[in-house]
Amino acid sequence: MSCLPGCEAICQVDAPLSEHTWYKLGGRARFLLTPRDEAELATVLECCRREGVRWRVLGRGANVLVRDAGVDGAVIKLVGPAWEQVRWDGAVVTAAAGADFPRLAKQSVERGLGGLDGLAGIPGSVGGIVRMNAGGKYGNIGQVTRAVRVMYADGRIETWAAERIGFGYRHTEINNVIVLEATFVLQPGDRDSLRERFQAIWKEKAAEQPAVSGRTAGCIFKNPLVDGQRLPAGRLIDQAGLKGVRAGGAEISRKHANFIEAGQGAKAQDVIDLMEMAQQAVRRSAGIELEPEIEVW
Ligand SMILES: Cc1cc2nc3c(=O)[nH]c(=O)nc-3n(C[C@H](O)[C@H](O)[C@H](O)COP(=O)(O)OP(=O)(O)OC[C@H]3O[C@@H](n4cnc5c(N)ncnc54)[C@H](O)[C@@H]3O)c2cc1C
Repeated sequence: MSCLPGCEAICQVDAPLSEHTWYKLGGRARFLLTPRDEAELATVLECCRREGVRWRVLGRGANVLVRDAGVDGAVIKLVGPAWEQVRWDGAVVTAAAGADFPRLAKQSVERGLGGLDGLAGIPGSVGGIVRMNAGGKYGNIGQVTRAVRVMYADGRIETWAAERIGFGYRHTEINNVIVLEATFVLQPGDRDSLRERFQAIWKEKAAEQPAVSGRTAGCIFKNPLVDGQRLPAGRLIDQAGLKGVRAGGAEISRKHANFIEAGQGAKAQDVIDLMEMAQQAVRRSAGIELEPEIEVW
């Protein structure tokens, strides 16, 4: 198979995506494209358009499960110095989409700036974090996002203010556009208290969830809305008796039932089988439909 015409210098053919996701599972991408800057990204999108190739953008792959069959299209990854730039201006920080979010959050705490400290322990790139409106009980990224610059499929660039992004629970209107950079407005605070809070949240997560370095994609399902309240999906799966249930090399975590851990020999299909098992069991036991939070590609 040959490279995507016009993108030879930055194109890998038949690339194993397991190397690019937190789960380390799944098949190959027909093309893996790594544009080094915005101009190259525009060229990539142009090539995809011309050749009729469907594209997707991958961050750290911390919320994506790639099927064993792989992705019959192009996967775009924003890696390299241009995509990792971070500009601080007082309490306002602008970070390029490929910047590592946990590092950014730690830096903000060390600068005595609050707002990202509540998102301690959430892996991902800045682009992925904003696209997912990542967060939890201590806040979400939408609360501190002022704007994002995005590129459309035709290469046009626009700045979207927070209202345009449409932040909701693990939801945004960022679809079919690529986040180039995001601007966050933080609050000056006391560095020691911020550090303490940051570490306390880390510890709390370590006690309640599988290790961040483990092969998971975080919470598998969204917490369902029932009578105006979000019920913890993990508790529903636990109550359905599925903690520790296995399929092939994957297991519903014994520590937190909304996590599925991949072990040795696991296939993406094992995770998918467990997801379906959990959905069926919770439908039966609680009459509630669980909606995936992770994306299955
Ligand atoms: C151990 C663990 C704990 C986690 N805990 C939490 C948590 O507490 N709260 C939470 O919300 N999430 C959590 N997650 C999930 C994950 O960290 C977030 O969803 C994060 O936002 C994923 O970022 P990413 O860069 O890995 O995105 P990916 O997983 O690579 O992609 C996710 C989505 O974002 C899109 N995307 C990525 N980059 C861009 C871009 N530049 N422009 C447009 N779209 C883009 C992708 O196309 C995809 O649709 C956890 C995951 C793990 C593994």
